[in-house]
Amino acid sequence: MIKCERCGRSIKEADALKHKTEDGKFEVICQDCFKEATGVDYKTFAFRRENAKMTLFAVIFCLAATIYAFVEKGALYGALGIVLTILVYLFSSKTR
Ligand SMILES: [Zn+2]
Repeated sequence: MIKCERCGRSIKEADALKHKTEDGKFEVICQDCFKEATGVDYKTFAFRRENAKMTLFAVIFCLAATIYAFVEKGALYGALGIVLTILVYLFSSKTR
């Protein structure tokens, strides 16, 4: 068990969150305090972070495919790949 550094409540290790304060220090806090400190509840925050990670992977994948298409199939396919990458990026950031 860990103690929340804000409210002093005992929390499970799995539920403890590291939060960076404004002066750059890290504190270990519970999910309620996280919500209070950031204005977002942790599930939303985790979801957004996960989503951003997925977007990054998708964009990197598309870019790699674009470069491959450009080298193997020529400029036209490369250009298509760029359009596809932009579409993927726009679509992923919209669903956030
Ligand atoms: Zn707390």
